[in-house]
Amino acid sequence: MEKTALKIRVLGDPVLRKRSVLVKQIMPWHKEFFSRMAQMMYEGQGIGLAAPQAGVNEAMIVVDIGNGLYKLVNPKIVWSSGYQVNQEGCLSVPGVCINVKRAQKIRLKAMDEEGKPVDMEAQGLLACVFQHEIDHLKGRLIVDYASFLERLKIKKVFKKLKGNTCNINL
Ligand SMILES: [Zn+2]
Repeated sequence: MEKTALKIRVLGDPVLRKRSVLVKQIMPWHKEFFSRMAQMMYEGQGIGLAAPQAGVNEAMIVVDIGNGLYKLVNPKIVWSSGYQVNQEGCLSVPGVCINVKRAQKIRLKAMDEEGKPVDMEAQGLLACVFQHEIDHLKGRLIVDYASFLERLKIKKVFKKLKGNTCNINL
């Protein structure tokens, strides 16, 4: 992997809008790529990052809300309940915060970087972050949750601002 390919991609880059493919077999480069993704997430002071944000359309996400790093392959939500609304930011949409309604509690299945099955439940912030990252794998961004007025505002703000102004950056 070239280092130049690992800049965080921002709104307007087509890689963010493509649906990511499932990882059939975990190769050594996937593990290396997980480390790079985690590095990018920490450097950007984010708490989650999906592979398309690093320019790769494969179903891989990293999440760390402060109590350990998750590296997941092919994450899939199999059950959800309740709802929560948080003001979310995205490392790929710098300077923009949007209220997003998501499930309060989820159960997800995935694989870890060794290919072992993961079956876990998450709630609150952790559940929010997983849902945000899984959206990325479907080509979905927080701006898609914005109202018409918010979208107009985003167009203006996005030209001027750089960096994160939100509490939750993913
Ligand atoms: Zn994001």
